[in-house]
Amino acid sequence: MATVYYEKDADLGLLKGKKIVIFGYGSQGHAHTLNLKDSGLDVSVCLRPESKAIDRAKAAGVNVLTNPDEAARSADVVMIVIPDEDQKKLWDDHIAPNLKKGAALFFAHGFNIHFKRVVPRPDLDCLLIAPKGPGHLVRSQYQSGVGVPCLIAVGQDASGKAKQIGLAYARGIGGARAGVIETTFKEETETDLFGEQSVLCGGVTALIQAGFETLVKAGYQPEVAYFECLHEVKLIVDLIYNGGIANMRYSISNTAEYGDYTRGPRLINETTKKEMAKILEEIQSGKFAKEYIEECESGMPQLKQFRKELSGSLIEKVGDQLRSMMPWLDGSVQKREQHTGEVISPALKTADLVKK
Ligand code: NDP
Ligand code: MG
Repeated sequence: MATVYYEKDADLGLLKGKKIVIFGYGSQGHAHTLNLKDSGLDVSVCLRPESKAIDRAKAAGVNVLTNPDEAARSADVVMIVIPDEDQKKLWDDHIAPNLKKGAALFFAHGFNIHFKRVVPRPDLDCLLIAPKGPGHLVRSQYQSGVGVPCLIAVGQDASGKAKQIGLAYARGIGGARAGVIETTFKEETETDLFGEQSVLCGGVTALIQAGFETLVKAGYQPEVAYFECLHEVKLIVDLIYNGGIANMRYSISNTAEYGDYTRGPRLINETTKKEMAKILEEIQSGKFAKEYIEECESGMPQLKQFRKELSGSLIEKVGDQLRSMMPWLDGSVQKREQHTGEVISPALKTADLVKK
């Protein structure tokens, strides 16, 4: 079992008097910044001069820097929370040449360190603090006096105190109130990629789509198929999230439970598990990372194509229409419009605003 650290193991004093610079004010960046600030630490945010997040950060009373060279030069502690695919360039062009000797370099996900896109100088501490939740939860839990559990990993310990500095940071963002689980950059990166590919994103959406298509092909109405194979996923996931698989099975009907035991393993069978093992191997060997980096470097042609195909698909069209009948649903219409550039009917948007 893993080693878990708590507030009693973490001395916030190690960060007192140090200049912390957070690069990025998105999901994670805003939460780290505001929590560290409320923990009484000296924290600034570095953003691009044209960033829309500047006004938001300033309105929250945050010190905003827009010169990344100067920001890196001034920092004792740097946290990089911009999108993973942009981190190498920011590191190479601005942070690496300017970061002072003996500084501590933090990440919230291990991708760039593990796949050696960022190679920190030997005089730097290098750490991972990865909250196990989205930024809004990291912020809201901190504000209500609790925290979101975090992972900690030490990639490089130049000062001899890297783990202690990492624990202080985890305490500053509230994670040590919940528990800080020790891991490695390798474990965090590989399991994160595997989880999102095989279960959370790839696995779940492929399962939903296959179920939907099977019903529609058999002549059932797409609206009904949508409810059965997509909409109700949340009800089941919430039960699993709150109390585990047994809790979900306790809450569903006996018919559903019997079908679950006897049919589930026919779908997720030895062939599926073999494919999962292959997906894991591609992550471990670096094959996936290489493929993804090439995709990013060539302007994301496949990602754009996949997004286009999905937005024109029956499940999305039916979904748009059905979600407009459920105005309590959260922001999905506008979000998709921003994402795909597609124009969605005003009626849907009005419905979407009702809940605000
Ligand atoms: P977001 O996409 O929410 O944050 C983007 C922020 O980075 C914005 O402030 C944006 O500012 C800035 N930014 C984007 N591109 C650049 C650039 N090229 N140079 C400088 N600033 C830039 O990121 P997340 O918070 O989702 O992810 C950050 C890190 O945290 C990643 O490593 C991710 O893996 C990790 N993580 C994310 C979790 C999550 O729940 N989202 C959970 C745990 C870890 P602007 O575009 O306005 O200039
Ligand atoms: Mg993850």
